[in-house]
Amino acid sequence: MSVVKRTSSNVLLDTALKNFYAAAEEMGLEDGLIEILSHSERRTAVSIPVEMDDGTVKVFDGYRVMHNTSIGPAKGGVRFHPEVCLDECEALGMMMTWKCSLAGIPYGGGKGGVCCEPLELSRKEKERICRTWAARMEPVVGAMTDVPAPDVNTGGPEMVWFMDTISKMRNRLEPAIFTGKPIPLWGSKGRTAATGYGVATCAIELLKNLNFDLAKATVAIQGFGNVGTYAALNMIQAGSKVVAISDITGTYYAKDGLDVKKAFDHVTNHPKHLLEGFTCPGCQKLDLPEVLYVDCTVLIPAALEGVINGKNADKVKAKYIVEAANGPVTPEGDAILDAKGILVVPDFLANSGGVIGSYFEWCQDLGGFFWTEEEYNERLVRIMRDNFQRVWAYSKDKNIKMRRAAFMAAIQRVADAARMRGIFL
Ligand code: NAD
Repeated sequence: MSVVKRTSSNVLLDTALKNFYAAAEEMGLEDGLIEILSHSERRTAVSIPVEMDDGTVKVFDGYRVMHNTSIGPAKGGVRFHPEVCLDECEALGMMMTWKCSLAGIPYGGGKGGVCCEPLELSRKEKERICRTWAARMEPVVGAMTDVPAPDVNTGGPEMVWFMDTISKMRNRLEPAIFTGKPIPLWGSKGRTAATGYGVATCAIELLKNLNFDLAKATVAIQGFGNVGTYAALNMIQAGSKVVAISDITGTYYAKDGLDVKKAFDHVTNHPKHLLEGFTCPGCQKLDLPEVLYVDCTVLIPAALEGVINGKNADKVKAKYIVEAANGPVTPEGDAILDAKGILVVPDFLANSGGVIGSYFEWCQDLGGFFWTEEEYNERLVRIMRDNFQRVWAYSKDKNIKMRRAAFMAAIQRVADAARMRGIFL
């Protein structure tokens, strides 16, 4: 490779670039494509003047980066956080390109955000920020251009304000520009469970490939929120035992299996959606980190990034790890797990049910015809299974770890599309 490699003072962007160059080199990708894919197609920065509730005016910085659209419109969230900046959006947009590519959906990658402290904003102030962000980004977003979605500190209400603003500016309803909308406003049934359902599908496919009897498999899940709960419900539906679950209140363990449905009802009815006070036959409460060290078949970290690292990876007793959270295993942790022979299904394969669900919402919005939850789930499982098997086969074929295989397969699909489309002008 003879390209001048880009670097960045932003750690996230620098890491994203380094990971890309390393994989591209291993794949023998041609220099021209390395140059193209290491740059974003468009980096947009806007100012967002907002009248605050007390009558003063504040100006926020808003961003949207379109990393690559060789396969299809850019897809990725809009984040509200004090650390949001253009380089961070570029790094996350690049990761979305690989995630969408690996998921086999017709999207490229993008990311956006507003640098702000959401906890200090009233609902009305948030609405004004969203409407001005949308108005100023109107030239760069579109159902066939760039399709934003919720991310950290944004959700259904923000997507509705974005959609409403652009629809009014264009004098026509534009439901397919934003995904993650509430069901009555062109959202989709099935989205709530999609990520956890996809995680469980990966775990099930893994065990089937290894001829492991699902009825004999035991599962531990860190984090019992949106992703963890639906992963747990789907694992018991497949016949496995969930022996440990956890949230910020501690680890809940039962050697012969927990009553997951009871735990689900417990968090649904708890005012803060916590496991606090949960019990069932055989259940004992352990310290918070213990969930990671349970002797089990599959460990599903579904809470935070970096929880399995150089300091604790040697204590993990699970045979397999399916990464539900983004980045739960650090590179140091990964090396230790590898040495111990623990197979890891990487995050951007395992948790891609979320973005596949966004794609389903977009499909329904473009067609104006809505699916049942059964149709949604049936399609989700089919795609997740195919993707898992593709990465599995690629990793066996090249004799590399699943994480590397997933990354290389993802880059390959984008590179092929970019090569076919050629360089314009
Ligand atoms: P959530 O907020 O609904 O749930 C997080 C859970 O983790 C909660 O039960 C919380 O109590 C628990 N938790 C927090 N700190 C913990 C700790 N130290 N120990 C044990 N438990 C702890 O979040 P979510 O939507 O379920 O997302 C979980 C992870 O999955 C995040 O990394 C997120 O980025 C990733 N992810 C989510 C989606 C999605 O569609 N929701 C998609 C892709 C990736």
